[in-house]
Amino acid sequence: MTTTIFHGGAIRTGGRDEACDWVLVDDDVIAALGTGDRPTADRTVDLDGGVLIPALRDGHVHLPATGLYASGMDFRDEGSSAAIVAAFRERARTGEILFGGNFEELDAPLGRHELDAAVGDRPALLARADMHSCIVSSALLNTLALDDVEGVDRDGDSRPTGFLREQAASEAWKWFDASLTAEQQRDAVLAAVDIAYSRGVAEVHEMFVVEWRGWDSAERFLATIGEVALNVPVYLGTDEVDRVYELGFRRVGGDWFLDGSFGSHTAWMRERFTSQPPSGSSETGLSYRTDEQVHDLFRRAQEKGMQVGVHAIGDAAIDQAIRAWGRVAEEFGIEAVRRFRHRIEHFECSGDENIEAAAHLGLAASVQPAFDAFWGARDGLYSERIGWDRARLMNRFKTMIRAGITLGGGSDSTVTPLDPFLQMDAMRRHHVEEERLDAHAALWVMTRGVSRLAPTEGNRGAIERGAWAEFALVDRDPLTVEGDDLLKAEVLGTWVQGKRAWPKNEAETA
Ligand SMILES: [Zn+2]
Repeated sequence: MTTTIFHGGAIRTGGRDEACDWVLVDDDVIAALGTGDRPTADRTVDLDGGVLIPALRDGHVHLPATGLYASGMDFRDEGSSAAIVAAFRERARTGEILFGGNFEELDAPLGRHELDAAVGDRPALLARADMHSCIVSSALLNTLALDDVEGVDRDGDSRPTGFLREQAASEAWKWFDASLTAEQQRDAVLAAVDIAYSRGVAEVHEMFVVEWRGWDSAERFLATIGEVALNVPVYLGTDEVDRVYELGFRRVGGDWFLDGSFGSHTAWMRERFTSQPPSGSSETGLSYRTDEQVHDLFRRAQEKGMQVGVHAIGDAAIDQAIRAWGRVAEEFGIEAVRRFRHRIEHFECSGDENIEAAAHLGLAASVQPAFDAFWGARDGLYSERIGWDRARLMNRFKTMIRAGITLGGGSDSTVTPLDPFLQMDAMRRHHVEEERLDAHAALWVMTRGVSRLAPTEGNRGAIERGAWAEFALVDRDPLTVEGDDLLKAEVLGTWVQGKRAWPKNEAETA
């Protein structure tokens, strides 16, 4: 048993009114906290004037892609097709895997022919920012079995352009995961874990889409995650409830899709998009499952005592999730449903009635605040897709909290960067003023809120007696800094279950 005292800086407990200038940790748990005279301990951590806050958490992450992008093929904010093609050409000179992503609107057409010119006959994959569509080279396209699959974009002569959406894109992911060596995948995950630590993060919820990436890749992922100290509640996106249960998980789904995304015109909407979807696709987006399929998964998981998460972005997709939980509540009783705090991932387009129904069913909202920062402006992507009157009823953080919904924040990294400071800033500066949160609430959503999305993992997410000793030491106070200063926050230290994980040269843990 080792005791450690933290003192010498400001301490924000995550509670509204607690004064505290020291914290005593016993191995991995907070034993005491207080002001003034402090107890003796085996070790001392001098905060050196920094601000100690509860470690940050991210409720929706894709670790493997996060690590892969970090190796230099991240095209966020790159609007030039030529620049992307040039990066692929450069990468093709090495033996490394030809995978990049995060593109959005581009200045010139980019399809398989442009990629081929850069990579020759090698398979290459370029993912859109939302990960619901991608562009592939001819060499990759030719290896995929796409005959009866939806989402293959075609030119005037009905030849594939290389642009793939949803189901068709998922075939490309499968190829991609299968062709990564175990070592490449492991390195990518470990790189992503370091990114998390560097931003004060002690917990991420991995949304592993088994339906897209296959079980082999999932098993490799689980083995790697077993090596690290970072807390990683894993959500396996599959309807194979029994298999997930046998693996020891008491949760299933996560990015189990009810619909797609706004970027790819595949969010499932009650009313049609105002922008023109690509030819051949529906004007109200894409529904992945029937009501029966959704209800069936929910019922089987509920029966086994498992929490369920589903991906629902458009209002019609959220309607479907609410309908299915309503049926399960009739069958099992409302309290039985509430007990698991089942999750809706994204929960973006929602009228008051769905917010009230979700609160009644005890559902939690796993939200991505930076989606609003990136795409929620009056002239932003959402408004372009569905018009401002509907777009302003998206990502209704304050309304959800008022209704009593548990709100946990996440990045959906790589869709937005794995950076809770960015997420907190987005909540504080929401494009719709009535939905803004204050600094304290924003911190709560990225700490305690996330921990409540995975309720079985123990007491964590605040600095209080009995909670896990997980902290971030920051160079400024997230509760008082304003504007861009929050985004510039530097993390001086990260502790996970009592052990220092960041900076790397002082880490006691992997
Ligand atoms: Zn998702």
